[in-house]
Amino acid sequence: MRTQRQVVDYSLQRRALLREVHSGRVSRYEVCDASPYLKSAARFHGEPTEILCPVCRRENLTHVHYIYGDELRQSAGQARTRAELSMLAMTLREFQVYVVEVCRGCDWNHLVEQYLLGRDGLSDDEAGAGDGQADGAAVATSAMTADGSTVRRRREAGR
Ligand SMILES: [Zn+2]
Repeated sequence: MRTQRQVVDYSLQRRALLREVHSGRVSRYEVCDASPYLKSAARFHGEPTEILCPVCRRENLTHVHYIYGDELRQSAGQARTRAELSMLAMTLREFQVYVVEVCRGCDWNHLVEQYLLGRDGLSDDEAGAGDGQADGAAVATSAMTADGSTVRRRREAGR
């Protein structure tokens, strides 16, 4: 997604844990423990992937995107589809996304990555592009420039 930033990738931890599972040092029961909430989030908001479950090797994994942030208010901690994330990324300044993979067959689950989304990740030019959702300051500025002088100054500053 365009405003994606501060990505933290958990594939190393995932690989290390799977090594423990495959060698028998960690039991499958310990890692295949998806909660009923996670499973229902996977069912209703999850994104199917082409990645085969690394534990049971029978089902493809589902990715669930959880969102956190002050601007989300009561939606914080809920799961959202990728389409919904794109919409939120254009309206909110900043929110955190946690991507969790779940196997709906054996209940394996693990954090895949986390990142920030939101308009704060856009460059000034993109944020100023008039889609009607620019933040208050930008709207006020453009309203004051009857002769376009502020717009010109901004562009010069950007060079
Ligand atoms: Zn599985």
